[in-house]
Amino acid sequence: MTAARPVVRYAPSPTGRLHLGNARPALLNWLFALRHGGDYVLRLDDTDVARSTEEFAQGIETDLAWLGITPALKVRQSDRTALYEEAKGRLIASGRLYPAYETEEELEIKRGRARLLNKPPIYDRAALALTDQQKQAYEAEGRVPHWRFRLDGRPVQFIDLIKGPQTVNTASMSDPVLIRGDGSYLYTLPSVVDDISLGITHVIRGEDHVSNTGTQIEIFEALGGPVPQFGHHNLLTGAEGEGLSKRLGSLSLSELRVDGFEAMAVTLVAVLTGTSLAVEPYPSLAALAERLDFSMISHGPARFDAAELASLNARILHGLAFADVARRLPAGIDEAAWLVLRGNLQKFGDIAPWPEILSGDIDHHADPADLEFLALARELLPPEPWDETTWSTWTTALKAQSGRKGRALFHPLRLALTDREDGPELKSLLPLMGRTVSLARLP
Ligand code: GLU
Repeated sequence: MTAARPVVRYAPSPTGRLHLGNARPALLNWLFALRHGGDYVLRLDDTDVARSTEEFAQGIETDLAWLGITPALKVRQSDRTALYEEAKGRLIASGRLYPAYETEEELEIKRGRARLLNKPPIYDRAALALTDQQKQAYEAEGRVPHWRFRLDGRPVQFIDLIKGPQTVNTASMSDPVLIRGDGSYLYTLPSVVDDISLGITHVIRGEDHVSNTGTQIEIFEALGGPVPQFGHHNLLTGAEGEGLSKRLGSLSLSELRVDGFEAMAVTLVAVLTGTSLAVEPYPSLAALAERLDFSMISHGPARFDAAELASLNARILHGLAFADVARRLPAGIDEAAWLVLRGNLQKFGDIAPWPEILSGDIDHHADPADLEFLALARELLPPEPWDETTWSTWTTALKAQSGRKGRALFHPLRLALTDREDGPELKSLLPLMGRTVSLARLP
């Protein structure tokens, strides 16, 4: 990884399955790396040992692979504690990290008092004034410290790749706790340590992290940087603007996959919703990467629309070439059949009954009132070879001899031949089925 080459990371916590909202930063980072010839790191933020599981970690990799994301490097924060300890030591030495001994109840009392005085509930930094003796007395009492980062308390400015110039005033924030009393790290410090040690050049993440960025820029600087560039994207929300929580199972990527959505449809909805680009098919992630500039990501909310996902999914299927789908097709569906059937699919799984319909034994139901008509149809069935004109040759003759037209002419034929009310045009299906199969279905 040379300095000129961008390095991005996607940093999920393995505390649940990825959902559509998580796919957005995962993909925006991937597309950025594709567009700029950069590297993509998957970093599992698993410092919360109680909630992180191996199963979720595996699930994340499976979901990313399904979307077409293949990280150049995978790391886990749980393997990197030594780096965080080293950073902790440096921050203590430079006076930026200090022990604080207040209990949660004591902090709540302080916040309550601030509220009463109409002041913002910012930590009063009482711990910064403690003498060594006072600290020892607390520890003798059995208190263990948590560790706070001493903010500069200044306007931290940065040029956001998506939102433009930003200012986060750390004077209006409490000194953040970086290390809990039990010695475990919150996300804030490990993330910065990793970004530095992995040479991350661009941090692309949700706009819920903007104020974190103010804190983290101070930490980058306190640790000697370099400070990466930041881009904060709008979050995917439901139709009413409600957040797509990680726990909202129905939009988990694994469920969407099991439901039969195309990875490309999910990708495009996750990326293009809330941008100035139309949510429409792209031939590849590379083509999407080439088109999408971060200036096209809107500053308002990105509202997910389930109907848009469904219709895009169908559109993608309708344009899928045989070569791109051949390995997923059931036996009995060749290129000619695919080209006829694809235009009727909403989801890929809709193809399942078609090998049987095209050549198997199907139970067909004819209305008794149509039996005589179908017997005539059988008699008039043209000889092979068949092509797309066969249907019209056949039905023109049938129309003349039976006097039927419109639905009365066509519907009994569709029902007898396919046992379905709908499907691709019969003129295209007929040559796929062939004369033997068709004859067997006409009573
Ligand atoms: N684990 C953090 C999250 O999921 C990562 C945020 C970041 O990209 O820095 O919110």
